[in-house]
Amino acid sequence: MTPSLDIPSRFLLGPGPSNVDPRVLAALTQPVVGHLDPAFLRVMDESAAMLRRVYRTKNDLTLALPGTGTSGMEAGIANLIEKGDRVIVCVAGYFGERVCEMVQRHGGELVRVEAEWGKPIRAEQVQEALREHAPVRLVAIVHAETSTGVQQPLAEIAALVQESGALLMVDAVTSLGGVDLPTDALQTDYVYSCSQKCLGCPPGLSPITVSDQARERIALRKRPPASWYLDLELLQAYWDERRAYHHTAPVTLHYALHEGLRLALDEGLEARFERHAAAGAALQIGLQQMGLKLLADLPHRLPVLTTVRVPDGVSDAAVRAQLLTERGIEIGGGLGPLRGQIWRIGTMGVNASPQAVLLALSAIGDVLAAHGHRTDVAAGLAAAREELAVRPAARRKSATPS
Ligand SMILES: *Cc1c(COP(=O)(O)O)cnc(C)c1O
Repeated sequence: MTPSLDIPSRFLLGPGPSNVDPRVLAALTQPVVGHLDPAFLRVMDESAAMLRRVYRTKNDLTLALPGTGTSGMEAGIANLIEKGDRVIVCVAGYFGERVCEMVQRHGGELVRVEAEWGKPIRAEQVQEALREHAPVRLVAIVHAETSTGVQQPLAEIAALVQESGALLMVDAVTSLGGVDLPTDALQTDYVYSCSQKCLGCPPGLSPITVSDQARERIALRKRPPASWYLDLELLQAYWDERRAYHHTAPVTLHYALHEGLRLALDEGLEARFERHAAAGAALQIGLQQMGLKLLADLPHRLPVLTTVRVPDGVSDAAVRAQLLTERGIEIGGGLGPLRGQIWRIGTMGVNASPQAVLLALSAIGDVLAAHGHRTDVAAGLAAAREELAVRPAARRKSATPS
């Protein structure tokens, strides 16, 4: 017998991927056509237009890279900096560290601005670094740090960067489609995300948007970027009317993204953000009422990804394994210094719903009890229900794990 695929259904309540709406999955089964077929070129144009709306930008250069969120990160570094350029990276978690590593591999002169994992970066820190290390070519910051559950308030930092003449690169991998990110209003120069978190599509594409100012700087480079595959000028020549072959676009993933973007815009961005805010708030209040401790504090607590401390004496891995095998629920473990210390619970895309929140609370309570740690599950569920009742937006969509 040759082996056959036999993949179980899961409730994907970790840091991504999130569950995929059946309408998005159905889009994956549309016919494969050529990457220069007029039908596919229309998908590209429509997706670029929808991405501009989701990113709230007029940027011409807005497209989806053939790769996961990390490809968007690497494309930013590869194109925006040259050897010897000074780059400030705001580091308050795992993904900030990943950006630092890329800056070094691409020959940038790295300046780290740091905050403790679980805290945001303060604007004064960036201001000081910009002054001390001028001229700075690029400032990179993570909007939603998925390793800590902290949302970075961007407005003040973005204004400082703009004033300094440096470019601003923002990681919106966990925020796009779940938390407001007004690209143009913040005057960001390069923003990247992924398909599989709050946009609720399968992994494999990285939506990016690039300001005109950043494109002008790229055009003035002394040498082309070290990465041919992630060269934004070559990618643009495929996405604009030149349609110059660059790579064979993963057409079915683009169909899924197109459908996911359509669903997000039909729901309405404001309604979608409120749905994510309500689910996150209910989950967080519920966990606290059960007697568990959250890592991130208000007002910097991210709604779409909640970090909760593993209670003393409880085995992180055993609880997560039991949730997965017995309940079909995936939650995430801690990264780096938080490994074994926290769980990461995502309420993204279709899972920003009352069903997902109540399911997570009761399952975590049950499994913790099985591991000898009693929590007040009834109080947690009651508090979450109360929070959801005062936020009707949360009910508008339901979890539909496929
Ligand atoms: C998930 C994530 C990434 C990496 O995205 P992949 O799709 O896994 O490559 C980068 N930054 C942040 C903040 C993330 O949450």
